[in-house]
Amino acid sequence: MHIHLSDSLSHEQETREYTAQIEADVLDIGTARYPITEKKPVRVRITNTGDKKLLIEAEASFVLIMPCDRCLEDVRVPLSYSVSRTADLGEAPGESEEQAYLDGYDLDVDTLIRDELFVHLPMKVLCREDCKGICNRCGANLNHGTCGCDVTELDPRMAVIRDIFKNSSENMD
Ligand SMILES: [Zn+2]
Ligand SMILES: [Zn+2]
Repeated sequence: MHIHLSDSLSHEQETREYTAQIEADVLDIGTARYPITEKKPVRVRITNTGDKKLLIEAEASFVLIMPCDRCLEDVRVPLSYSVSRTADLGEAPGESEEQAYLDGYDLDVDTLIRDELFVHLPMKVLCREDCKGICNRCGANLNHGTCGCDVTELDPRMAVIRDIFKNSSENMD
């Protein structure tokens, strides 16, 4: 959603409040796409601090669906954070650095929220603390029960010993 800034620009030292909707349904970070669900309206406060500068503050709250790091099942990741930016609308276009959330005198709320999102993404996503993950061999989700694979063979130290035995028996042939 876009918010027109011309009103705020013409009233120095005043604060205006808005509620905006997040438009995107999917967050595309290049390497992955996460659905955005349970979006709460974004609260936006715009304060004209004088000299064509606007203090833009927004509070976002929504849920991302991300895969569990171990078993890849969908996990609800609730995110809630605020963004604060000072926009200088007195600068000629191209002069300003990071004002991708501005489109002329329009504030692009999605871009503003997205700008800050990466800081808030969790380093680790788990469906539960003790997620058992998937079997390296057959891909079964081990949270749903055992798959019957011989897991002792998955221990790399065991594999080395087994190879030594295998090689020595092959050499004897
Ligand atoms: Zn899991
Ligand atoms: Zn298995």
